[in-house]
Amino acid sequence: MSKLLLFAILGLVVYLLLKRSSRRPAQRRQETPNASAQQMVSCAHCGVYVPESESLASGGRHYCSEPHRKLGATGSAGDAGDAGKH
Ligand SMILES: [Zn+2]
Repeated sequence: MSKLLLFAILGLVVYLLLKRSSRRPAQRRQETPNASAQQMVSCAHCGVYVPESESLASGGRHYCSEPHRKLGATGSAGDAGDAGKH
């Protein structure tokens, strides 16, 4: 009778060990490196959204193209007076 109990306990221990070992770290936190890595920035001149890697940065602002970078931000009419009057 005590042997049966011993086997029962042994079986339980083995069962618990197997259950533990089967608990793998399956929950991998997959970071999406490419899906949302491209941060979109808005052109300071025309407001179009371009990937940051393709944008042209100037003075802390981003522009969609070289002409817009030269033209500068839209709201820069008041600064520097007649900068575009040449
Ligand atoms: Zn633009």
